Amino acid sequence: KSHYQVLIIGGGTAGIMTAAQLLRKNRKLDIAIIEPSETHYYQPAWTLVGAGAYDFKKTAKPMADVMPSGVDWIKDRAKAFQPKQNTVSTESSGDITYDFLVVAPGLVMEPSMIKGLPEAFEKGVACSNYIDPDFTWETIRNFKGGNALFTQPTTPIKCGGAPQKIAYLAADYFGKNGLKNKTNVIFATPGSVIFGVKEIRETLMKVIDRYGIHFKPFYAPKEIDVENKIVHFSHTAPEENRCIINEDNDLGEVMIGDVDIQVPFDMLHLAPPQAAPKFVRDSALANASGWLDVDHHSMQHNKFGNIFGLGDVAALPTAKTGAAVRKQVPVVVDNILKLMEHKSADNKSYNGYSSCPLVTGYGKMTLAEFDYNNNFIPDPKLKRMLVFNSDKEHWRLWMLKKYGLPNLYWNKMMKGKNV
Ligand code: FAD
Repeated sequence: KSHYQVLIIGGGTAGIMTAAQLLRKNRKLDIAIIEPSETHYYQPAWTLVGAGAYDFKKTAKPMADVMPSGVDWIKDRAKAFQPKQNTVSTESSGDITYDFLVVAPGLVMEPSMIKGLPEAFEKGVACSNYIDPDFTWETIRNFKGGNALFTQPTTPIKCGGAPQKIAYLAADYFGKNGLKNKTNVIFATPGSVIFGVKEIRETLMKVIDRYGIHFKPFYAPKEIDVENKIVHFSHTAPEENRCIINEDNDLGEVMIGDVDIQVPFDMLHLAPPQAAPKFVRDSALANASGWLDVDHHSMQHNKFGNIFGLGDVAALPTAKTGAAVRKQVPVVVDNILKLMEHKSADNKSYNGYSSCPLVTGYGKMTLAEFDYNNNFIPDPKLKRMLVFNSDKEHWRLWMLKKYGLPNLYWNKMMKGKNV
C-alpha cells in the first residue's frame, strides 16, 4: 500500500500520541507511521538513570507494543519530501503519498559541532545522559574528586533543564559520599541565567548555594582538549558583563584574551549540540535555522496547509519536551480533523506550554511549567493534587517524576487518552 489519509513520520512521543488520539476520535482513519526503530524510549527517566536512581531497561519498550492497533507501521526511514506531490520518499519502501502529513522525527545529536567532542565520547572522557545515561552513572560512581564540569551547547536542546538536573544529583551524591571537600561542581551554560522562569530561578539559585556549585553563565563550550582534559569556552557576555578570571582561582581556570576560557576537568557531563534531522534540514519544509517551519499556535506548516509538525523537530520557541508534546498533540489532531471536514485550522490553541521537572537532588524536585512568555503557569489539576506550589522543592514531586510521570506516559499518553 502506498497511500494513506494520514502519514506520520516518527514513532516517538509525538508520532505515537498523534496516531492514538486520531484513532480515538475516528477508528476508520487510514494511518501509517514511518519509524525505523524497534525500541521506543521514555527519555525523561534518563536523568534518573544517570544518577543510579532508575533502571535503564525500564525506559525501553518494544516499538510494536506502543504502535496503536489499526495503524500501519512502515519499518523504514523517511529520507525526502516532495510536498507539492504530497509524497514522502523512504529508504527502502519507495514513495508514500498522503492526504495529511505529520512530521515528528525528533532531533539528532551533532557532537561534531564542538571540536574534540566525538573523540571525547569515544574515549569515555565525556559522558552524557543524552547518549548513554548508564555511562554517566558509572562516571559519577567512579569519580574521586577534583573538577566535575557540567555544560551545554548553544544550539536548542531537548529538555533544556536536563544538563543542570544531573549536576544537582551529582553534587548531592558527592556530598553523601564524603567527596564534597575534594570536589568543585561547576555548571557552565551559554545562557545568562540558570532558568528563564523567575519563580523557578529563585528556587534554583538556593539549590546552587546549598551545594556550593560554581555557576558560570555566558560560557559557551567550543572545544574539548581530550588529552589534557580541558574544555575551551567562549565568553558570550556583552562587554559590561565580561568576567575577569584570576589565574590562581580554585578551579584552575585560565583566560586567554577576553573570550577564551579554559576549564580543566576530572569528569565532564555535556549535552551535545542538537539539530533537526538532516532530511528535514535539507528540505523545503525547514526554516532558515533548519527546524520545521510551523505556525506557533496551530502547528500547521507555514507553506503547506496539509502538513503539520510537532515535538522536538518543530520550530516552536518553547522548551522541547514530552510535556510540550502532550499539549501540542490535541491541537494537531483537532486541526487535522477540522481540515478533513473542510473547515479551517484553529491557530490560537497552543500557547507554548512546556514543563520541566527539575530534579534538584535525591528525593527532591521542583516543577517548572510555563508558556511562550516564560510565565509560570502551574496546572490547576496538579496543584490541587499536590496541595503546594510546584515552584518549591518537594519530595512528592520527586515521586511524581519517578513513578507518576512514567505511568502517565505509558498508560495514558501512549494510548491517546486525554491528559
Ligand atoms: P522522539 O520521542 O525523540 O521520537 C522521534 C522518533 O522519530 C524516534 O522514534 C526516531 O526513531 C524517529 N525517526 C528519526 N528519524 C526518522 C526518519 N528519518 N524517519 C522515520 N522516523 C524517524 N521531556 C519531558 O517532558 N520531561 C523531561 O523531564 C525530559 N527529560 C529529558 C531528559 C533527557 C536526557 C532527554 C534526552 C530528553 C528528555 N525529555 C524530557 C525530552 C523528551 O524526551 C522529548 O522532548 C520527546 O521525546 C520529543 O518527542 P518527539 O516525538 O518529538 O521525538
